[in-house]
Amino acid sequence: MKVLLNRENCSICGSCWETCPDIFEQNPDDSFSQVVEKYQLNGNNAEGKLPAESEDCAAKAAELCCSDVIRVEKE
Ligand code: SF4
Repeated sequence: MKVLLNRENCSICGSCWETCPDIFEQNPDDSFSQVVEKYQLNGNNAEGKLPAESEDCAAKAAELCCSDVIRVEKE
């Protein structure tokens, strides 16, 4: 599964990194959510490739995101 973040629309509510701290974190420079480094695709903090065990949490975070920033895509 891939996860995609439309980072510039993030309202910095913190829901995603509280729900899935293994997948999302707050960027220290712009404060928006990003994919943690170990799951980033090509060093892009707005795009990640997730292991199967993280899929449910990513889907939950996408559902909870109040700003509709998080997309999950089955591969
Ligand atoms: S849940 Fe959405 S709006 Fe909130 S910090 Fe995460 S990406 Fe940003």
